[in-house]
Amino acid sequence: MKQGKCPKCSSTEVYCGSAIKPKSGPFGSNSIPVSLASIAALDNYVCTQCGYVESYIPDPTKLKEISIKWPKVG
Ligand SMILES: [Zn+2]
Repeated sequence: MKQGKCPKCSSTEVYCGSAIKPKSGPFGSNSIPVSLASIAALDNYVCTQCGYVESYIPDPTKLKEISIKWPKVG
C-alpha cells in the first residue's frame, strides 16, 4: 500500500494521511496504546476506490517498545 497500490482492489487511488494533524492527541483517534504511559501515532493509507485503510507506525522507537512489551504472535 505504501507503493500506492491497494492490496484489496488493485486500484492506484491510494492516499496517505501521514501529514494530517492531529495524528494523535487527547482523543487518541489516530493512535494505538502501546503501554499504560505510551501511545503510538499512526500513518493511514486509504484507498478511495474501495475504502480500504492500512495503518503504519512510523516511529521506530515505538516499534522497538512494542517488540519488548507486547506478546509475540506465533
Ligand atoms: Zn481498494
